[in-house]
Amino acid sequence: MNTFFLKIICSDKVFFEGRCQNVILPTPDGQKGVLAHHENMVVAVEIGELRFQTKEGEWNTAVVSKGFAEIINNRVSVLVNAAERPEDIDVLRAREAKERAQERLRQKQSIQEYYLSQASLARAMTRLRASKSGKKYI
Ligand code: ATP
Repeated sequence: MNTFFLKIICSDKVFFEGRCQNVILPTPDGQKGVLAHHENMVVAVEIGELRFQTKEGEWNTAVVSKGFAEIINNRVSVLVNAAERPEDIDVLRAREAKERAQERLRQKQSIQEYYLSQASLARAMTRLRASKSGKKYI
């Protein structure tokens, strides 16, 4: 079977490492699927849901923040600020983060603050969307 080595690293831990058949990355241009022996490249990773299929065929989801992925010699390294499994998402925390970001967006802010608030809102919305019990708070 054609597999490649995937390592997902976030700021505080190695989220996953192992052989995979497929990874689907959220990128600024949409979803990008990577299979074994993909050409070497570096691609930006956006806030979103990253899906990967292990060697055994099992699909997993990681809710990721911004970062990048490097594909070199059949190894895919994903470096992101944060990564969570949908079942580990704290829905209350994501709801509060969403409300804080929405409140900031209602107020006058500098362009830089506006982009930070937008990113906070996107992270919170993605977490709520990915979490089974969080969907109703979107
Ligand atoms: P908050 O304002 O609630 O801290 P945030 O979007 O600013 O949210 P991040 O900076 O993306 O948080 O993440 C900081 C750390 O907290 C990371 O380890 C991330 O995985 C974790 N984290 C953030 N929000 C949640 C959540 N709702 N459930 C579980 N883990 C979370």
